[in-house]
Amino acid sequence: MSASPAGFAVGRPGAPDAMTVNLFDSHCHFDFEAFDSDRSQVWEHCRAQGLTRLLVPGVSPSQWPRAQALSEQMPGLCWAAGLHPWWLGELDGIDWEAPLRETLTQPGCVALGECGLDKLIDTPLDDQESLLERQLELAQSLDLPVILHCVKADNELIRLLKRHSLPRGGVVHGFSGSRQMAETYWGMGFYLGIGGTITYERARKTREAAQTLPLEALLLETDAPDMPLQGHQGERNSPEYLVEVAQTLATLRATSLEAVARQTTGNARRLFQV
Ligand code: ZN
Repeated sequence: MSASPAGFAVGRPGAPDAMTVNLFDSHCHFDFEAFDSDRSQVWEHCRAQGLTRLLVPGVSPSQWPRAQALSEQMPGLCWAAGLHPWWLGELDGIDWEAPLRETLTQPGCVALGECGLDKLIDTPLDDQESLLERQLELAQSLDLPVILHCVKADNELIRLLKRHSLPRGGVVHGFSGSRQMAETYWGMGFYLGIGGTITYERARKTREAAQTLPLEALLLETDAPDMPLQGHQGERNSPEYLVEVAQTLATLRATSLEAVARQTTGNARRLFQV
């Protein structure tokens, strides 16, 4: 069996022809400081495992240039720009709308995000909602997909998404809800970003959603350096573990790693047009 430069070769007993796995981490904060000391080695290791594409989401105006610069430096990376609810404090008194619009037209910027709603932070939900609506309008006018962050605010998010038609849809990243919630999002044209949550046995509802939704509805992600997998609690999460997420999903669905990789990578490439 021979390894291809684009992926790693998986040999199975009795299967003479090796299959190549190509994985896409659709949400990884690879520009964060946590990777400053060994980013190149991590990416090399990822590529050796068949993870050849990665999307770096945007979180705040001061971070967008870093996401852009990184994706220009490293082959296989693309990026997005948006205002994450955790970084709203940075926006005090600045006019972000024109810079965001301008940033979204830069090469390699494939989506607006991440943006969304989070009920576990102190920022009033009203402020978060108005900021999100302005971003949804921008995505609509620039014809971009959106990357959504949602913590305990699914009903509010769904209400806002119904008010704005986004022809290119988007992804609800780090999905940790139920099958019914997943079906609602998918029915509205949004993919579900499946990450380390499914490696925890206690995440019964989310595992059931990942198991029963069509594979056409799912993207894979690590959200690294956050969201460590089962067995790695307290450690830095890394895109190197995406293959474990993919393998868990394959096991839950009683299918092969190759089938999961092929479909989810295809989904991400379609959504982000890369
Ligand atoms: Zn994120």
